[in-house]
Amino acid sequence: MVESKLPVLSIVVPCYNEEDVLPETTKRLIEVLEDMIQDELIDFSSVILYVDDGSRDRTWELIEKFNRESRYITGLKLARNAGHQNALLSGLMKAKKNCDIAVSIDADLQDDLAAIRAMVETYHEGYEVVYGVRKSRTTDTFFKRFTAEGFYKLMQGLGANIVFNHADFRLMSKRALQNLARFDESNLFLRGIVPMIGFRSTEVYYDRAERFAGESKYPLKKMLAFAFDGITSLSVTPIRFVTVIGFVMFVLSIFAGFWALFAKIAGVTVSGWASIMVSLWLIGGVQIMCLGLIGEYIGKIYKETKRRPKYILDIDLDPLGDATYVSG
Ligand code: UDP
Ligand code: MG
Repeated sequence: MVESKLPVLSIVVPCYNEEDVLPETTKRLIEVLEDMIQDELIDFSSVILYVDDGSRDRTWELIEKFNRESRYITGLKLARNAGHQNALLSGLMKAKKNCDIAVSIDADLQDDLAAIRAMVETYHEGYEVVYGVRKSRTTDTFFKRFTAEGFYKLMQGLGANIVFNHADFRLMSKRALQNLARFDESNLFLRGIVPMIGFRSTEVYYDRAERFAGESKYPLKKMLAFAFDGITSLSVTPIRFVTVIGFVMFVLSIFAGFWALFAKIAGVTVSGWASIMVSLWLIGGVQIMCLGLIGEYIGKIYKETKRRPKYILDIDLDPLGDATYVSG
């Protein structure tokens, strides 16, 4: 690949109620960007793209202000809260139109900004997808570490190709972004989808800090829902597992039938009421669980068939002329 021109970078930052961190994030990101422009790693028209995911605080006002003050800052405002993954996607889809590479990063400065440069350098070596991977999880609570580890193991066990200890801090080339756009499912679990795209990819390691300010927008309930969505959108193994449970119980019940027959013929006293109740509850429980799981998948199918937009754009601070504010 002969490089006649430096790549235009877009740093995509989804923000939900991030007024506390935005001024500092902006300051530091601009430094990173300017350094890279200076060292001729990226084109001078590179930008920081903030996506306001329906914040209820002053996030959007700040983005507009920074946009007026700095030519590096652009912004997208979503019409309402679409969730982290969709907000990120809306930014990436915009970046894919006018940039050569996009780096996605959280607003809270937990991810090491120096790794952005490392990612861009790796891009120059010919990699098109670069995953930011945490060296350790020492800044996490024991609980988060434990659940995260379990989650990655489970995903891998279920056959999903997922990068360990990688969140949504990554670089993607224009080609990778264009192909990401082809994944049309409404329940987009980016961490699981991106490895499916392929192209030459590698990892960059970094240390993750504490949140700079504000609090996590991923409380336990959201975290669990996110993990569950990830599993059911990437793997059908759980539903297959249900079939296996059903089959095993069927075989066991045949044995139980023989045993009951034998007991009757041999005149052995019939075991008591307790065992009947226990098995009744057990089978009932397993059945309801299985139905629930099947329901989850049907629910997913239902959602997908409606093909609703994943996010609605409200304002684009830097429209490309085709100012039709539609998704994609
Ligand atoms: N975020 C978002 N929409 C949401 C929730 C979160 O855009 O509905 C953003 C948030 O502003 C942050 C990133 O997603 O930039 C990751 O969120 P957070 O740092 O709260 O998650 P954690 O690091 O605690 O997992
Ligand atoms: Mg965070």
